Amino acid sequence: MRIGVLALQGDFHEHIQSLRRLGVQGAEVRLPGDLDGLDGLIIPGGESTTIGKLAVTYGLLDAIRQFGRNHAIWGTCAGAIFLAKEAHRPQPLLGLMDIVVERNAFGRQTESFEIDIDIPALARTGNGHAPPYHAVFIRAPLIESVGDGVDVLATLDTGRIVAARQGRFLATSFHPELTADDRFHRFFVDMTR
Ligand code: GLN
Repeated sequence: MRIGVLALQGDFHEHIQSLRRLGVQGAEVRLPGDLDGLDGLIIPGGESTTIGKLAVTYGLLDAIRQFGRNHAIWGTCAGAIFLAKEAHRPQPLLGLMDIVVERNAFGRQTESFEIDIDIPALARTGNGHAPPYHAVFIRAPLIESVGDGVDVLATLDTGRIVAARQGRFLATSFHPELTADDRFHRFFVDMTR
């Protein structure tokens, strides 16, 4: 199994390390040809405007859309924005996932925070009980709304959505690659099978 990590900007290196801890080979993706033979793709956190512009420059926008027709794709933070169909700003988006996001929904960089949240989908036994998930939010987006066929995986106490899945697409507002908890990477690896 080989999972690509979009390596245009942002914390792609940390995703590759997380995959390695699971014994999964990660491959840096910078050009359309790098997608050949991959089983899935992770789009890291960073700056979604920059990632989008570079993706356009390198011909990756259509290549990733094509790849998404039959492969799993996971976007974390800026990556979740890039996956979305709408972000209320003029910036290149993949538009693969039927979610609307609100960028920088918690304010500035200094308003970044970490919090434990319940994510029943991470329970491995199927009984819905999973230990709380420690989620890191860095100038994070919220998932403002989801379309039909999108499952909400996690919300904050306020009810606002921070993780969602639509078939082979996964979006998280936070950064699983920045903690030692590998449950989200396992979850995605399972999605690629
Ligand atoms: N604020 C960034 C954006 O809007 C996302 C931040 C992140 O990926 N940690 O693209």
